[in-house]
Amino acid sequence: MKFGGTSVGSAERMKEVARLIVDKERKIVVLSAMAGTTNSLVDIANYLYKKNHDGANEVISRLERLYNNEVEALFSTAEYKEKGHALVLSHFDYIKSFTKDVFTVFEEKSILAQGELLSTALMNFYLNEQGYNSMLLPALDFMRTNKNGEPDSPFIKENLNTFLDENKGYDLFITQGYICRNAFGEIDNLQRGGSDYSASLIGAAISASEIQIWTDIDGMHNNDPRYVENTRSISHLSFDEAAELAYFGAKILHPTSVLPAKLGNIPVRLLNTLDPKAKGTLISAEESHAGIAAVAAKDGITAIRIKSGRMLLAYGFLRQIFEIFESYKTPIDMITTSEVGVSVTIDSDKHLEDIVDSIRKFGTVEVDRDQVIVCVVGHLVRDNKGYANKIFEALKEIPVRMISYGGSDHNISLLVASDHKKDALRALSAKLF
Ligand code: ASP
Ligand code: MG
Repeated sequence: MKFGGTSVGSAERMKEVARLIVDKERKIVVLSAMAGTTNSLVDIANYLYKKNHDGANEVISRLERLYNNEVEALFSTAEYKEKGHALVLSHFDYIKSFTKDVFTVFEEKSILAQGELLSTALMNFYLNEQGYNSMLLPALDFMRTNKNGEPDSPFIKENLNTFLDENKGYDLFITQGYICRNAFGEIDNLQRGGSDYSASLIGAAISASEIQIWTDIDGMHNNDPRYVENTRSISHLSFDEAAELAYFGAKILHPTSVLPAKLGNIPVRLLNTLDPKAKGTLISAEESHAGIAAVAAKDGITAIRIKSGRMLLAYGFLRQIFEIFESYKTPIDMITTSEVGVSVTIDSDKHLEDIVDSIRKFGTVEVDRDQVIVCVVGHLVRDNKGYANKIFEALKEIPVRMISYGGSDHNISLLVASDHKKDALRALSAKLF
């Protein structure tokens, strides 16, 4: 069971999480940092990089006060209030120790780890105060990445299962999402939002019966509730559909977290801490429905079009283009081709200028920024008719820059300018659902 930052965002919310996890079933609970904490830790690190110690100290003091207030609100006995304050003090003393010396990525990552270490230790104290026999499971002892920065699954599996075997007397384990050690044994993390990934890796490592991701919405919706009214929660998605939706904008689930569950064939359930009885979304291997399930949008996309006479009847052209993106470690999301040109999209502008410079030798290059990928996801089996027609009909008033269909049975992607995003999402909802 994984609970995100808002689910553990205050003492009250932590108490609700505690109520949800204390049944008899043996389980591992993965927690994020309390909402806002990781952002504050990033701010502290940024101040320290710039040697702005006053700036850092101000954020540190504010955060420390907030945690001490949470301790007062969370615990009811003097004994645990004292334990809680001592815990907060030790973590903040540690953070403050970095304001004195050199500051590198190594120190930064140690600071970023404090949020999850705090939320889990506080939760474990609270459970103990309430009389539950829970145990902290230190993620830094088993969660590990390899030389390529990818999770080291055999290491995780072996060390986690050994720990569980050595602690047969416990049924309730509390562990940190997001944090890990790298191949050198240094403190590291699985990138922002990585707690979902932790949960999925852990679920796969122990062959869990189910992985539950608890947030504050009742599962994945069939469109973005921030822009479209009357969206509905989707009761079931296949792993592939969920992966497309998570990647193309459904914020509720981190995109990396689908793969470990899919490989281990472990169902993932998305549930709502504010409405624990709601069915939420079940993600599994089963392809239970045909047709369009949901629409999502991914912002911040740049489209690059290369037009070249040299592409005509030539082979190897695309390889040369793709190699340029590869050399700048920039992934391509969407591709469309004609006989004399190709358009691709990227979601990172970091190396845009260099990429464009390198591509220019192949032909004319046009760049469009501020684009959005609108992604229609479902079980779009090949011999079914009419999906494309419905989508085009819905978008007849909206200028479409690129269309991609047929890359998988699960996705039709369209590129539109970000000004048209809301209209496109609403028009698709009106037509499709
Ligand atoms: N606390 C981390 C973050 O805010 C990890 C997570 O919440 O998933 O990115
Ligand atoms: Mg999250």
